[in-house]
Amino acid sequence: MLARAIAVGIWLIEGGNMTREETEAFYVSKEWRRKKKAILRRDHYQCQLCKRYGRLTEAKIVHHKLELAEYPELALDDDNLISVCRACHNKLHPEKAEATNKYRYRKHEDRYSGERMA
Ligand SMILES: [Zn+2]
Ligand SMILES: [Zn+2]
Repeated sequence: MLARAIAVGIWLIEGGNMTREETEAFYVSKEWRRKKKAILRRDHYQCQLCKRYGRLTEAKIVHHKLELAEYPELALDDDNLISVCRACHNKLHPEKAEATNKYRYRKHEDRYSGERMA
């Protein structure tokens, strides 16, 4: 309920940085789940980064090129979204690799992968 209420209204109109609660709510929103499916379909369920190197890898994650929290107005913008595999996604978020605390790492991954409701 909260997620849906926030999803298209406040963020897209006001922009600005999102709080952690807002990004979490976004990733479980119906709008995101629908958009994620559409992007994966657009990219033929293939990792678009692997593809550049001639590799065919199944994509399971849709990544925000410009960070969701900083550019909420691009949260559902097709041009800001790209299908990637887990390995490539980890490279796109180098801050993950630096995390030493396992719990924090997990939380972080949940936050960025958009896989929670997949
Ligand atoms: Zn890849
Ligand atoms: Zn990402």
